Amino acid sequence: MAQKKAALACSVCGSRNYTITLGQNRRVERLEIKKFCKYCNKQTLHRETK
Ligand SMILES: [Zn+2]
Repeated sequence: MAQKKAALACSVCGSRNYTITLGQNRRVERLEIKKFCKYCNKQTLHRETK
């Protein structure tokens, strides 16, 4: 069974800075995580994208 993967993209500049593996027991529809974006040089909201 293949693992589902998703990228986390910066909501400010759109850069895909992180890759996550989606578990079977997902608790939320769409992940939104505050993470550091090296392009924005600050913490920004990152959203799951395909
Ligand atoms: Zn950014």
